[in-house]
Amino acid sequence: MNDNTQSYDVVVIGAGPGGYVAAIRCAQLGMKTACVESWLGEDGNPALGGTCLNVGCIPSKALLDSSHHYEHLKLHAGDHGISVSNIAVDVATMVARKRKIVSGLTQGIAGLFRKHKIDWLKGHGMLAGNNAVTVTATDGAQQTVSARNIIIATGSVPARIPQAPVDQNVICDSTGALSFDHVPARLGVIGAGVIGLELGSVWRRLGAQVTVLEAMDSFLAAADEKIAAESKKILSKQGLEIRLGAKVTGTQMTGTGVLVSFEQNGQAQQMEFDKLVVAVGRRPNTEGLGAVEAGLAVDQRGFIEVDASCRTNLPNIYAVGDVVHGPMLAHKASEEGVAVAEIIAGQQPVIDHALIPWVIYTWPEIAWVGKTEQALKQDGVNYRVGTFPFMASGRARAMGESEGLVKILADATTDAILGVHILGPSASELVSEAATAMAFGASSEDISRICHAHPTLAEAVHEAALGVDGRTIHI
Ligand code: FAD
Ligand code: NAD
Repeated sequence: MNDNTQSYDVVVIGAGPGGYVAAIRCAQLGMKTACVESWLGEDGNPALGGTCLNVGCIPSKALLDSSHHYEHLKLHAGDHGISVSNIAVDVATMVARKRKIVSGLTQGIAGLFRKHKIDWLKGHGMLAGNNAVTVTATDGAQQTVSARNIIIATGSVPARIPQAPVDQNVICDSTGALSFDHVPARLGVIGAGVIGLELGSVWRRLGAQVTVLEAMDSFLAAADEKIAAESKKILSKQGLEIRLGAKVTGTQMTGTGVLVSFEQNGQAQQMEFDKLVVAVGRRPNTEGLGAVEAGLAVDQRGFIEVDASCRTNLPNIYAVGDVVHGPMLAHKASEEGVAVAEIIAGQQPVIDHALIPWVIYTWPEIAWVGKTEQALKQDGVNYRVGTFPFMASGRARAMGESEGLVKILADATTDAILGVHILGPSASELVSEAATAMAFGASSEDISRICHAHPTLAEAVHEAALGVDGRTIHI
């Protein structure tokens, strides 16, 4: 390496919620930091924020909110004595709003990089041996920088299936489904996972007839069974057609859309859709990273192998977020990013992967933290259950949002909270109380002895905690 080579304490590869948060924390801790990012936004300009800000969490939540407002006005304004006529959807405005939110936030990250004096190296990063990273810009120009430490945060990309090749026109992945220019009359979705349910809900609310084809016989296998069953009932009632045990065998373009062939209950079936979304999971992204050449250990599924401190098998090289094992969630990526920065700085942070909350932003929302009831049964744990339906919550009733429930699982002997599962309005916010309580090792009695404001949705959590000991007041 020549004398002109820029050298850093830390070079982060990837500026999603794992990478950009790691870079900011490194800079806060006084380390000279650079972050390599190759993403080009919809306007063709380089953009920070990764999947989450550009084509993931944020744009999907923008469309979920817009479509929720539309459906709420259409179906429920009348319940409040409000008459609304001529409600119509302008998809172009809705999508433009989403783009504006995305660009505001991604530019915000660029501002944070300037504030913390983090060098944004625009281009594709590749491990170049001897603690070096080569960055190739879009015009082909290359520079090599040296790094005492490297954090790989290269994220994930949509998984593909050969039966449904994505063309981002008729057959799309989640990125395509965030930018339709009109509401498709008939929308097919392959995969009833998080993306299938969230984006399926967006387009259904806006008027599409949505059919979700799920290969598994069970619905939302990672969620608590009672919550999953209840949410399936509610989503189906809303008009989302969920077909379980539906194995897609092929697709064929028609002049007007796509004909999807699948097998369900041993029978060959076909359905035609105007658009089809493939949402069958995501896979770790190490493309062009030079992982093999550098000797980086990668498992059979393509995840970079790391220990509990996100250390790879190579000295001073760490990896965080979707590119390593664990749930593919933005907040998990960020927690790992912060932890690695602190480890490099000589601190001893601990990430409790058992307490990472999950949220599915359907309406009602689905959120949980900790163990499911079926997992406790499988592990032979003795537990008690407290539940409380939102139907009995004054605040939920006043809001007209009384579907769903809170369910708390606590150890039968110690009363320690083992899992909290919520299906209901603002479950995404309510789950934080549960995660906080569990992080402090709370018992269900601890929550039941805390005064919760009235009337609030959080009272349902309080009542479910009382319910563990058979002491709910309002049911
Ligand atoms: P990413 O966000 O994928 O970022 C990786 C970055 O690295 C990218 O910007 C990429 O361009 C860059 N990169 C890759 N290789 C290189 C290289 N060699 N050189 C330079 N740059 C490189 N999670 C939630 O928690 N909540 C949600 O509501 C949610 N909603 C989602 C909705 C959708 C539609 C999708 C697709 C995902 C959603 N997720 C959500 C998941 C979330 O987006 C990811 O878990 C999160 O973005 C992972 O962060 P990351 O930093 O590991 O990777
Ligand atoms: P997922 O793993 O949540 O769901 C994929 C679904 O597709 C599964 O139910 C699976 O059984 C099914 N499937 C797989 N192959 C199939 C096939 N050939 N035919 C029919 N069904 C098939 O994955 P996703 O929905 O694509 O989302 C990817 C990741 O992005 C998630 O794991 C999640 O971590 C993240 N994400 C999170 C949020 C959130 O936190 N709210 C939102 C969106 C995405």
